Amino acid sequence: MDWMMLANKVIDGYDCTREEAREILNTDDADLLGLINGAYVLRRHYYGNKMKLNRLINAKSGRCPENCAYCSQSIYADTDVENYQLVDQETIVEGARQAKADHIGTYCIVMSGRKASNREVRAVAAAVKQIKQEMSMKICACLGLIDDKQADVLKEAGVDRYNHNLNTSANYYDRVATTHHYQDRVDTLEAIKQSGISPCSGGICGMGETDEDIIDMAFAVKALNSDSIPVNFLRPIPGTPFADKNELTPNRCLKILSLFRFVNPKKEIRIAGGREYNLRSMQCLGLYIANSIFIDGYLTTDGQGGKAKI
Ligand code: SF4
Repeated sequence: MDWMMLANKVIDGYDCTREEAREILNTDDADLLGLINGAYVLRRHYYGNKMKLNRLINAKSGRCPENCAYCSQSIYADTDVENYQLVDQETIVEGARQAKADHIGTYCIVMSGRKASNREVRAVAAAVKQIKQEMSMKICACLGLIDDKQADVLKEAGVDRYNHNLNTSANYYDRVATTHHYQDRVDTLEAIKQSGISPCSGGICGMGETDEDIIDMAFAVKALNSDSIPVNFLRPIPGTPFADKNELTPNRCLKILSLFRFVNPKKEIRIAGGREYNLRSMQCLGLYIANSIFIDGYLTTDGQGGKAKI
């Protein structure tokens, strides 16, 4: 495959097919730099060389009743993550001040749990209102399943973006979690879109899924018109059901990122959790494909700080 030619066709409006998506995932390692170069043509065309930085606050941690098999915060996992209820408003706002001082573009307020209560939504909304009054900063909320009314409360408070990952394909979903369903996630994203908040949705790779599952997911977030697409690479956590899954290589991760870029060329592609663990010394190549990363760690695992040299 001539990846540069395909990239230029995509810029001219062509939509990649599933067959081309399969070719991306099956690219010979000897042609990997050619694939990355094609993905970079797209990244540079739509985003230049700028990198968007995101930082998380784990605003409510642990004791989640859901059984997502990758997650250390599930009550079904045998882990020693911190357990605490929603932190107070000042803690959330102070995190935003620090993020602003560190030139972070988007501050992500994340809660563990199946679904935020109305009280929790109001509390997060109050914190967001204060942040928006004090500074100019993009806010993403990630509070679990959400309904139309809650989405409207967050929109009115100034939430710019809401993250709710599809996580994997519809077909593979019940191998990852059974306490909720793929359609629940789609419904939440539709409620978000209805409210006018920008949807953010991606997934996690390396959980035992097939190439077809990854391709399904890339096309599903395209169909949802997700503005931002986090691509997580499983970092297996001891005590979780997926503790022994270790199937990713740096080259595989780069092909997956390229797939998401070719299928969703204009969207923010973010290398999310597991970046450091899975891409290792090849992280810098990921930056030619993705235009967004998290820095300063993830919800329950550490990561590189903003001043780290990759
Ligand atoms: S719903 Fe969220 S916090 Fe709960 S187990 Fe799943 S990923 Fe973890």
